Amino acid sequence: METTIIGFPRIGAQRELKFVTEKYFRGKVSIDSLNETACNLRKKHWLLQKNSGLNLIPVNDFSLYDTTLDTAVLFNVIPRRYHRLGLNPLDTYFAMARGYQGVHGDVKALAMKKWFNTNYHYMVPELEDDMNIKLTGTKIIDECKEALALKLLAKPVILGPFTFLQLARCTGKKTKRDFADVLTNAYKELLTVLEKLGITWLSVEEPLLVTDLSQEDLSLFADIYRDILQNKQGVQILCQTYFGDVRDCYHILTALDFDGIGLDFLEGKETLSTLCANGFPEDKILFAGVVNGKNIWRNNYTATLTLLKKIQSKARYIVLNSSCSLLHVPFTITQEIHLNKKYLLHFSFAEEKLQELSDLKKLMDSTEPKMEKIYKNNVALFAVPHAVPDAMVQKRVACLTKKDFTRHPGFTERENLQKKTFHFPLLPTTTIGSFPQTLAVRKNRADYRNNKISLETYKNFNKKQIAACIALQEKIGLDVLVHGEFERNDMVEYFGEHLNGFIFTENAWVQSYGTRCVKPPIIWSDVSRRKSITVEWSTYAQQLTNKPVKGMLTGPVTILNWSFPREDIALRESTIQIALAIRDEVLDLEKHGIRIIQIDEAALREKLPLRKADWHTNYLDWAIPAFRLVHSGVKVETQIHTHMCYSEFNDIIKDIDNMDADVITFEASRSDFTVLDALQAAEFRTEVGPGVYDIHSPRVPSELEIEKSLKVMLTKIVPQKLWVNPDCGLKTRSIIETKASLEHLVSAAIQVRKTMDSK
Ligand code: GLN
Ligand code: ZN
Repeated sequence: METTIIGFPRIGAQRELKFVTEKYFRGKVSIDSLNETACNLRKKHWLLQKNSGLNLIPVNDFSLYDTTLDTAVLFNVIPRRYHRLGLNPLDTYFAMARGYQGVHGDVKALAMKKWFNTNYHYMVPELEDDMNIKLTGTKIIDECKEALALKLLAKPVILGPFTFLQLARCTGKKTKRDFADVLTNAYKELLTVLEKLGITWLSVEEPLLVTDLSQEDLSLFADIYRDILQNKQGVQILCQTYFGDVRDCYHILTALDFDGIGLDFLEGKETLSTLCANGFPEDKILFAGVVNGKNIWRNNYTATLTLLKKIQSKARYIVLNSSCSLLHVPFTITQEIHLNKKYLLHFSFAEEKLQELSDLKKLMDSTEPKMEKIYKNNVALFAVPHAVPDAMVQKRVACLTKKDFTRHPGFTERENLQKKTFHFPLLPTTTIGSFPQTLAVRKNRADYRNNKISLETYKNFNKKQIAACIALQEKIGLDVLVHGEFERNDMVEYFGEHLNGFIFTENAWVQSYGTRCVKPPIIWSDVSRRKSITVEWSTYAQQLTNKPVKGMLTGPVTILNWSFPREDIALRESTIQIALAIRDEVLDLEKHGIRIIQIDEAALREKLPLRKADWHTNYLDWAIPAFRLVHSGVKVETQIHTHMCYSEFNDIIKDIDNMDADVITFEASRSDFTVLDALQAAEFRTEVGPGVYDIHSPRVPSELEIEKSLKVMLTKIVPQKLWVNPDCGLKTRSIIETKASLEHLVSAAIQVRKTMDSK
């Protein structure tokens, strides 16, 4: 039995790739030194894999920015606007990734989207009608040569033509179908080159097969591969899927002339039953994804061996595989110096997962005495719960009844009463929470964290910031104020640090996009609130002003989605525990006189299942109630806001309304306001604040521009339900931009109100 993985983290154990690339962006290092670091990292990662006993080593999983973008560039899918800049190939590539503004011109980047149900983002390729699609790049070829020079058994990996096409955007008259032939030919050209190099396996990744596909999609898939597989000659082709199960595609997949098929047995809940029901072709190799590429817990060998035996009874040849690329987990636990060993024993990051694959292979193949000990140790890890259960928390969860998930009275009654209590003007103005995080603000937090300043000094500094922030908002004339979030590094980490049940790593970075990485906390045990978290800041801010100041919290679904979740209890259960902890904070804020509380659900959509049939049963049916549990206990006149960082909720609009918040703010300025039609069509009940300007850009929107946006919004939303606010938090912006933008926002709202009063 052999082993492989789908991909390895490329950013480097010390995030070397991030730092050198950012230096390159700033003009501080040359192309050569960027390439040298990249080359060294590849080599280091390959040797690590080889030394761990991995048989087939992925090549071309490396990327300077994103592998979807790499695939586009390989096949000359480079929109005209980037060619026109006349830059060298590397800078053209980065211009596509990040946009370009300089002496050669001014172009925006390609769109960026979340990669399936992960927090990794890919660049969306654009297909222009007259594009000359063919193999023009050499990245995958060069990397194969590098690997072969090291005498590695290289398995180049590439995003497959079907998923590539479906993720791309057509910008002209041609449809995706129209591009299929030329794209297929380009892949065939690549095959010929790889064959000449002596490559024996090529993995084409087709994760789209785990999503809902139409008959038309399926026939496109079959057409593309029939063509490619006819010409494959010496290179064996693996069709690799991940992030779920292939369900209906199984027949097509197994009928085609692939040499290997990669299936995900972990996230693919139906993979095993599909395999058992249909069997597996004798002449193909099954690449069985049994080591979790998405989570950081140790593999349970007993469970995996049982699974593998079942798989083995159906498939003759098996290669042990990760369930998806290890890109989604951090590099190694060996860099966690401060985390107690009792925790680390239970974790397995990318490097440790290589060891797990090797162990599993040996456990399957032989009865080496050494393996017996390894196996026993693994069994011992899972023999007792890794953390002591918190009886209080569990009892609280068990005692919840339907009533706890419903706020009374209903929305309309609350809306009427709140209008009378708050006396807001029409189109009330507000912001999303954070204010610019200046160097001084960050230094204050860092100094406190490193014991350089006392708690008192730390707090006094933040209170001064809050006072200035409140004064600024009053001067600008906003209606609902915020305290500014100067105490927070990150909206999830901050709450994690103040709740029981979370632990934090030092170096467990995961790539989010390009050079950006995140360090998700780990949910270790049952979650509860120790003491109040935000009350001191919020009440301090509130007593400085007569205007309402919003309490500012992160919601349970977002906290869950941006952490590494437990595997010993259901996601639902963890989320409900977090919801109860945040609920305690909500009630505490209310008790201390905070009348408006915002509970951010920036990442609500992230773990929405990839197949529609699973949306409710596997996710929304508990995620939405979890949110409701957080706020169902407040008084009628306490106003609950929520915020989401995107407007892609047309398809779950009813569920969003069912969160039963009083007001929701969300990103809209970059989405052509199509969401407004959906809101109107759904007769959306919750009051809404579609962001009127984009905070991701340093641009200051003019008053007129905001007025125009508001007028468009008012054609779809009744004025009694419309709020005026930016897209998202302001923490990455400068104070000057923020002040100017908010002044324009307030004056635009005032202008529009005037036109309504005179009607
Ligand atoms: N309240 C948070 C802020 O303003 C929300 C951040 C987010 O949505 N990502 O920073
Ligand atoms: Zn946001």
